[in-house]
Amino acid sequence: MTKEEEIPDWVGAKEFYDKYEPKEILGRGVSSVVRRCVDKRTSQEYAVKIIDITPSDKMTPQEIEEIREATVKEIDILKKVCGQDNIIQLKDCYESKAFFFLVFDLMKRGELFDYLTEKVTLSEKETRKIMRSLLEVVHFLHAQNIVHRDLKPENILLDDYMNIKLTDFGFAVQIQPGQTLKEVCGTPGYLAPEIIECSMEAEHPGYGTAVDIWSSGVIMYTLLAGSPPFWHRKQMLMLRMILAGSYDFSSPEWEDRSDTVKDLISRMLVVDPKKRFTATDALNHSFFSQYVVDEVRQFSPFRRFKVICLTVLATMRIYCSYRRAKPITKEVIKSDPYAIKPIRKLIDACAFKIYGHWVKKGQTQNRAALFENTPKIILLSIAAEADEPIQHIW
Ligand code: ADP
Ligand code: MG
Repeated sequence: MTKEEEIPDWVGAKEFYDKYEPKEILGRGVSSVVRRCVDKRTSQEYAVKIIDITPSDKMTPQEIEEIREATVKEIDILKKVCGQDNIIQLKDCYESKAFFFLVFDLMKRGELFDYLTEKVTLSEKETRKIMRSLLEVVHFLHAQNIVHRDLKPENILLDDYMNIKLTDFGFAVQIQPGQTLKEVCGTPGYLAPEIIECSMEAEHPGYGTAVDIWSSGVIMYTLLAGSPPFWHRKQMLMLRMILAGSYDFSSPEWEDRSDTVKDLISRMLVVDPKKRFTATDALNHSFFSQYVVDEVRQFSPFRRFKVICLTVLATMRIYCSYRRAKPITKEVIKSDPYAIKPIRKLIDACAFKIYGHWVKKGQTQNRAALFENTPKIILLSIAAEADEPIQHIW
């Protein structure tokens, strides 16, 4: 039977469109678009990954065949891993000659990447919850000799209860026990050193499941610091940093982090994959233990001295402000409201709400200029813009 006979042009697509109604785009990949979709019968919402394999000028027939094969592999792995709580569930899949439709549970809170962008950095407590789930997923995959190869915050989705769901098994592969891989794939900032080495040395013995632990270490570092451990404007230099395992905990965000958390990261970001922690080692680390012990911090003499100095300074500052403090009376509020910090903050917040759209851009209108206004002018401007009386705004 020829391929044309095996896969009718439209059957899969028709089945999909008969059952679901596609809605807005949630995300995009190289050859896929993910949309929200609704089951016409139950009104239940889902996410559909539509993979385009239409012959076009942009792709050669060989490239199209590669995408088709990769998608078939992705579906196969998704079926093998279904049922694990922190892995996205594939609900349905349809194949036509031009498209694949992969229907998943909808994760309304989107990517961990966007959540991190919004929060800038996460606490150790929140990081512990996310990393425990991630390492449990990694342990589950590795127990079946499945390597994900593209762990990153963009491929980690969040459900309504802020539980993680790992997605995008496009690069995932199941290997035989002891088998190694040589193919270079993944996302630059998250690549393990041995993957980069494979691209440089023809004789390299290859890599295995340990590459996922490296990427998990990069994710963990990024969640706590707000920026990745290996980054350089020039990709070549970034890859060199990875090969040398050259990263540090020197940015200010790390000052308040426990030594326990730094210890775990440093055992995951080990250049030699044989010496790197496995998922089980990481889950057994004291960072994940239930007891409060993991919060005990080992202060170096320098840190202890710094804490003492800061405590003395803070005490002096509190004492001085206490002596200088004047009671806030109605008269003070009336005569100079902008001099009182909470009121000033409220005024500024109101002004930002109204002027947010124009203070961001332009040479004459900027954030600083907004603060240069006197309170009266701001209030009048707020009222004018909102087209409402001042009293109402207050
Ligand atoms: P690609 O292989 O093209 O990277 P992904 O499977 O990673 O495709 O999906 C791309 C993006 O689409 C994700 O990073 C995410 O923003 C969004 N997305 C994917 N699946 C879902 C889902 N189930 N719920 C909500 N958003 C999703
Ligand atoms: Mg992806």
